[in-house]
Amino acid sequence: MNFADSEIVNSILMENGNKPVDNPESADIILVNTCSIRENAEAKIWNRLKFFRSIKKQNRDLTVGVLGCMAERVRERFLEREKLVDLVVGPDAYREIPSLLAEVSSGQKAVNVILSLEETYADITPVRRGGNGVTAFVSIMRGCDNMCSFCVVPFTRGRERSRATTSILDELTMLSDQGYKEVTLLGQNVNSFNDDGVRFAELMYKASLVNPEMRIRFSTSHPKDFPDELLHAINEQKNLCNYIHIPAQSGNNEVLRRMRRPYSREQYLSLLENMREIIPGVTLSTDIITGFCGETEEEHHDTLSLMDTVRFEMAYLFAYSERERTLAHRKFEDDVPQDVKQRRLQEIIDIQRAGALVRNQSDIGRRHLVLVENESKRSADKLSGRTDTNKVVILDRKDFKPGDYVEVVINDATSATLFGEGLRVSSIQEFEPDLVQV
Ligand code: SAH
Ligand code: SF4
Repeated sequence: MNFADSEIVNSILMENGNKPVDNPESADIILVNTCSIRENAEAKIWNRLKFFRSIKKQNRDLTVGVLGCMAERVRERFLEREKLVDLVVGPDAYREIPSLLAEVSSGQKAVNVILSLEETYADITPVRRGGNGVTAFVSIMRGCDNMCSFCVVPFTRGRERSRATTSILDELTMLSDQGYKEVTLLGQNVNSFNDDGVRFAELMYKASLVNPEMRIRFSTSHPKDFPDELLHAINEQKNLCNYIHIPAQSGNNEVLRRMRRPYSREQYLSLLENMREIIPGVTLSTDIITGFCGETEEEHHDTLSLMDTVRFEMAYLFAYSERERTLAHRKFEDDVPQDVKQRRLQEIIDIQRAGALVRNQSDIGRRHLVLVENESKRSADKLSGRTDTNKVVILDRKDFKPGDYVEVVINDATSATLFGEGLRVSSIQEFEPDLVQV
């Protein structure tokens, strides 16, 4: 989501006559986009700002600004206490950046952290710099109304609002015309997308028609309101990817209740079963928070057993990090000691790796349609791409290039990566996947 926001800011700056440079030392303006989701995300930003202060010593005219989620949370500390920055802009105030920069050049500090009920930046065409030209993100909503007790997002990014369907479809058409082959639609909970009665399943269906050779993914879905209609659309439309990110957060009902996640372990498991039934071969990933307030050893074991039961293809696993203003901060005690959180996190990582390895090994011998994204980081002779099911595949370069859909037969697998041999260039509509057992 921060990538998508930075692309909007690029567009606003370039309209303002600013030009990008390749390194911070040659910049007149440095804007840092920030994340507040966990403490270590914020710690990285403070370090980065200290580095920029050292550059400022060489270039007194340099303007340093902070954008995004941390802006509202710590604006005083940025401006007054630490004197690290000249400009602070919240996630709904990016349009004001040119006028705020003008204030800074007249010698003032400039701040706008007002959150909006309407802003979706629908009319701003993001400027995508430094990407691979093959895959892109498109924001379809902003903010969140869910108020999970651990989460700072509703406070930093404001109320939930959906972008107009027409502007989303126009952006997809533009990306397709520019040669992009895969787009990920983004929102904190895409299932609550609602543009004057157009719901997410309908939006996905419409998105699939923009270009049958452009893949569509989405993130994130909340388990509380996943419609069957969307599962059927994914199964029917070849270019809607068979991959769903569906954060569980915990496998224990008491913890889920304290987290204010309005579903039970049983409901979550039956939702996943339904997904696997309606979309044969679908892959699933999740987010888990370990060591949440009051989490007992037994409750932790319920999360381990959930992961063992599901065997997610992928997972993003976090130790709980207390955030000011959240319900958990006000009502509960962050009482799981750091070393216990770390030990539980490691246990979850281990069980995740074991499950993903089994899932990935079941791909050996199968053919997949891989969209090549770029050169492999490890070797110029290899390319890296992804299956429709969002698994990373490394293959020999041969004559393939980024942007090609390649039919690949998988011959090896680790818990994180598949390795395969590219057979030929193919296409979404032409490729016939192997039958998979449910
Ligand atoms: N809207 C998405 C999640 C966005 S935040 C959803 O509801 O699924 C991404 C992930 O960060 C969350 O799913 C959660 O697992 C993690 N996260 C959020 N707040 C956290 C906190 N205070 N400590 C640790 N992890 C957190
Ligand atoms: Fe945070 Fe919950 Fe909203 Fe996700 S759904 S952004 S975890 S409040």
